Amino acid sequence: MLIDTHAHLNFGAFREDADEVIKRSLDAGMMIVNVGSQYSTSARAVKYAKKYPGKLFAAVGTHPIHLHAGNFSYKDQDDELLIEEIATIGEDVDFEKYRELALEKEVVAIGEIGLDYHHFNEGDDRERMKARQKEVFLGFINLANVVGKPVMIHCWDAYEDLLEILESNPVKKAGIIHSFIGGYRTAKRFIELGYKIGLNGIVTYGISYDRLIKETDLSDIVLETDCPYLAPGPKKGERNEPLYTAYVAEKIAEIKNMTEKEVAEITSRNAREMLEMETNCNSN
Ligand SMILES: [Zn+2]
Repeated sequence: MLIDTHAHLNFGAFREDADEVIKRSLDAGMMIVNVGSQYSTSARAVKYAKKYPGKLFAAVGTHPIHLHAGNFSYKDQDDELLIEEIATIGEDVDFEKYRELALEKEVVAIGEIGLDYHHFNEGDDRERMKARQKEVFLGFINLANVVGKPVMIHCWDAYEDLLEILESNPVKKAGIIHSFIGGYRTAKRFIELGYKIGLNGIVTYGISYDRLIKETDLSDIVLETDCPYLAPGPKKGERNEPLYTAYVAEKIAEIKNMTEKEVAEITSRNAREMLEMETNCNSN
């Protein structure tokens, strides 16, 4: 059984067929965490989760790039376009409204939240934007501790600042460093703070993350897609979906010389424990 710990079936790319995509994933025995990136998509993630109790869960929060109005695209280190342009409105975060959402039993994490120093545009006041991201991130850490839930962290080009914040402002339940793209030494520092490392299609694109996979204990890894983005290996360039979590499992199994079944079982157990999905299942 596979768990996609980070999906965006609440995004426009699935406007026409979210239910179909969800159903075929659940029919394959999957569990999915649908993640919000601003208030509207967070509220939608909760709404969807209520339709599929115990199978589809939600995370609520404001992604750091949504704090600034602009257009962003995601490129990899070879300058290849991974995610086409996303337009953001520059959200004003209302923590009281988020607190109400976060208390819903379908919500298993606060996120995605974090730091993104990768997507600043020419002429941006970077220091002011970084300060704003940190301020909001601290607000969400506080919310996670108030509601007693873990965090789902997005972090690009800011692992040092992130570690510093998490060390001095601990999240009681820790959480997941989603779409981890650092080295294994950095991963180890997050793991020591109690975090799990979320791996997705990026690790299937070449050999860049083979060392990370090799050196990181499977008990510290969870799987994700980040769909509709970052479709793995053979599906690269297509719209991603939760079923493709299997390709990430396949890559890890290959590097670790294990079966895909073992990878699926252990990473799913990690996700269920970290996100306390069991508690939610039993209550349904
Ligand atoms: Zn995401």
